Amino acid sequence: MNGLATRDLIIQGSYLAASVLFVLGLRSLTRPTQARLGMQQAAMGMLFAIIGTLLNANILTFQWIIIGLVVGAIVGYPMAMKVPMTAMPQFIAFSHAFGAVAATLVGVVEYRVRSAATGDEGLSHGLAAALGFEVLFGALTITGSFMAFGKLQELITGRPITFKGQNAVNLTLMAVAFGSLAVLIANPANATAFYLILGLALFLGISMVLPIGGGDMPVVISLLNSYAGLAAAATGFAIGNNVLIIAGALEGAGGFILSIIMSKAMNRSFANVIFGAFGAAPSSKGGDKGAAKEPKSISAEDAATQLAYAGSVVIIPGYGMAVAQAQHTCRELDELISKKGGEVKYAIHPVAGRMPGHLNVILSEAGIDYGALLTDVEDANRVLATADVAIVIGANDIVNPDAEDDKSSPLYGMPIFRPWTARTVFVIKRGKGTGFSGVENPLFTRDNTLMLYGDAKGVIGSLIKEIKALDEGH
Ligand code: NAP
Repeated sequence: MNGLATRDLIIQGSYLAASVLFVLGLRSLTRPTQARLGMQQAAMGMLFAIIGTLLNANILTFQWIIIGLVVGAIVGYPMAMKVPMTAMPQFIAFSHAFGAVAATLVGVVEYRVRSAATGDEGLSHGLAAALGFEVLFGALTITGSFMAFGKLQELITGRPITFKGQNAVNLTLMAVAFGSLAVLIANPANATAFYLILGLALFLGISMVLPIGGGDMPVVISLLNSYAGLAAAATGFAIGNNVLIIAGALEGAGGFILSIIMSKAMNRSFANVIFGAFGAAPSSKGGDKGAAKEPKSISAEDAATQLAYAGSVVIIPGYGMAVAQAQHTCRELDELISKKGGEVKYAIHPVAGRMPGHLNVILSEAGIDYGALLTDVEDANRVLATADVAIVIGANDIVNPDAEDDKSSPLYGMPIFRPWTARTVFVIKRGKGTGFSGVENPLFTRDNTLMLYGDAKGVIGSLIKEIKALDEGH
């Protein structure tokens, strides 16, 4: 076997290993207990993909590759270490934008180089299709992801920005972009069509994200993730790289499925998320209801007495628990109640927090046994119905009874937990803040609901102190 054939074998072998590891990684990520392994498998897959690509490409000098590697590591590592879990969605949007910048730049450079070449190296109809597609989805992802980042980071308003006929304008622009793609495929030398696709896609990324509210941004981010995957797959076709086609297709399909799962968990149609301008105006009806009755509160001392003698407790964590980083303190409370003979379960809603699996991740990070998590809404509601105490920690929308009772509520139809079916409900939150949907929550004024106001970590800390004080007979 000559040297060239051996090199090709190593390259294709690395690509195969990378592809298998990507698939295994995704498979492992479907089980929380193996999620860490899944990340390691995917990272190892990436290493194989990089090795294969470095051997495959006709690299004249490694200088810029090494510079890029060093700059990327210097910027990326501290960024990933510093970003809190609650800011993960915008961090993901930010990194998607850079992936899309890379795919779009490759598309533009490849188009320019191939336009100037002739024969086999020149622009074929197929290559023009791949490059046009790559630039369309890549450019849309760049500006769309930066907009999503801006909304979540509150650099721009999280509320939907709408104007009359917006959907019609967006659909027309999209039709023009796809029309230009058809022109480019028919006549690959038509540079105007190519750059028109690029310009329109950059504009569409902004105009399509503008009318979507901050609460729906995680769905949008996962959809943009899917677009970035499609752009990467098209890049793979354009530059003849198999692993890019496979990884891009996996990302494209994965992002799309995740967007649909999230929409379903909020009981919203996919079209409603993209075109519905959700979160535009807080429900005034809900506001009136909240004003009519005042919530009752309870002291940490009295709540601790009830918890110390409770036979079954269900904790419902939400976004506020993640912000307060109260998961470790929560585990301590759990241990204390369990030591006193109570059984503690956690009801985890599919859209609790700000990204899929948000609460599952932080609870397992705190060492809470996965067996104690109730991740099915109906199962959790069955357990809640016989529980002595339900503790709602920094959750709001996912326990809003209006989702079942009030047809005018934007949450209507979303499957929710029913903590009010437990004997007593404690709600831990700082004040009268609404949830992400911006609507009032009548749970707080129900007869068996008692509020414990304060930061989640501080309040749970006080409960622990009071339960311990009971033991010591103070
Ligand atoms: P939520 O409805 O946003 O409510 C969070 C509550 O936490 C607020 O009412 C706030 O009240 C309280 N809070 C904030 N900081 C706190 C702290 N330090 N200590 C104690 N409480 C604190 O949260 P959720 O019930 O988890 O619902 C998630 C929402 O996000 C849903 O509307 C869901 O549709 C949306 N969403 C989620 C995803 C996802 O993938 N997870 C995706 C898209 C949309 P105070 O200000 O009074 O403290």
